[in-house]
Amino acid sequence: MRDGDRLRVTLPQPVASVLAGLAEVGEEAALVGGCVRDLLRGERPADWDVATSAPPEVVAGLFPGSTWQNPFGTVTVLVPGGERGIEVTTYRIEGRYRDRRRPDHVRWGRSLIDDLARRDFTMNAMAWLPEEPGIGRLVDPFGGAGDLEAGLLRAVGDPDARLEEDALRLVRAVRFAIRFEQRIDPATEIAIRRHAGSASTLSGERLRGELLRILTGPVAPSRAFGLMEELGLLPVLVPELAALRGVPQAKNLAGDALDHSLRAMDALPASDPTLRLAGLLHDLGKATTLADGHFIGHETAGADLAEALLRRFRFPRGEIARVGRLVRQHMFAYGGEWTDAAVRRFIRRVGVDLLDDLFALRAADDLASGFTQPAEGGLAELAARTFAAVAADPLDTRQLAVDGHILADELGIPPGPRIGRLLSRLLEAVLEDPSLNQRPALLALARDWVSTDPA
Ligand code: ATP
Ligand code: MG
Repeated sequence: MRDGDRLRVTLPQPVASVLAGLAEVGEEAALVGGCVRDLLRGERPADWDVATSAPPEVVAGLFPGSTWQNPFGTVTVLVPGGERGIEVTTYRIEGRYRDRRRPDHVRWGRSLIDDLARRDFTMNAMAWLPEEPGIGRLVDPFGGAGDLEAGLLRAVGDPDARLEEDALRLVRAVRFAIRFEQRIDPATEIAIRRHAGSASTLSGERLRGELLRILTGPVAPSRAFGLMEELGLLPVLVPELAALRGVPQAKNLAGDALDHSLRAMDALPASDPTLRLAGLLHDLGKATTLADGHFIGHETAGADLAEALLRRFRFPRGEIARVGRLVRQHMFAYGGEWTDAAVRRFIRRVGVDLLDDLFALRAADDLASGFTQPAEGGLAELAARTFAAVAADPLDTRQLAVDGHILADELGIPPGPRIGRLLSRLLEAVLEDPSLNQRPALLALARDWVSTDPA
């Protein structure tokens, strides 16, 4: 396949009607970017992006119900029957709209090529221009199809200039090279190494987007982190991880703490990128606690580092908290000798909502260490015991047979922090002995405590 070749494409109906609708009013419209690349690779594109000569207001006017919110001239067209919107972007050069006062076909043709020229890599800088329903021509001014066949990732034009324009391309290069198993063209690779330092200027939001695509992609994400390290990007983007290089591991598998962390990440499901992050970051504290001559407290130090890192990447609060809690709790040492009360205290410390994640993290941690689960007393046993305990016994002050109002009434103490402390103490007692969870028994206990400690 090369520039100008005719190519038959089976379009989803909504995409076909957007292209046809624009052609009907005399505008040029083409498929561009990743979807053309995916089609040439024989894959069904996830998103179909359209570029057009029509200005945004014309696009929005043609397709009722479309939304047009951003300043870049991208209109999201909602066509009946389409699950998600189709992004239609007016041809642009360097972020500005083309001057369309003298629109003619030649100029439009040029505009499409200008639009492609501002894209990142040759394989992402191709278009499919329809000529008749289902048949169009490949517009490939930079040799993307040839590079794709050769397994080569290459910047459009001068790689130094392109990386200077937008440092996110450094990370995108890594993501694509790994996802499509491509070599990076030598000139592009040299430029990436030269510009690696500029990745420090990238916003957390944009980096998070790429990171999530690496974590949820079809290839083990450790490969992308390995390539980032090789290209000098890892210490710039995630110095906390780079610091794990060379930190020794007393594990059955070879490698250092970074190798171990990457393996743990890979062992967790791509469908849950937050859990994969917990795997990646669970031993972050080992670099700093090693400097003190031990790994003691690495889970606490690591949780703080992991939370700060995720804040830098602008992850949502809930996900930061989830990862922080997982890292903080990952060092539990279960043995078959644990009493039922110990199991209940463990559940209370971890939180019922986090149990499944914590067991998944530990299983990945163990796998990444080369530990095999014992037949008895292992993770599966603890999971079964926590499951039974959660179903059977109260683990939360809200499940006690008394509440704050009852305590306040019966003991003649005003509601407030003292009542809260009494409830916590009662729960501790019930965790030790669930049979105490009855109103008379709890009130007797509380009365006893209040009489010996009237404050
Ligand atoms: P994916 O299949 O992962 O979505 P994609 O190629 O569609 O890959 P997007 O981030 O969705 O990637 O971007 C769509 C297109 O926009 C790209 O194919 C590329 O042409 C262009 N593009 C996106 N980001 C950049 C960038 N930072 N610099 C230059 N061009 C970009
Ligand atoms: Mg895309």
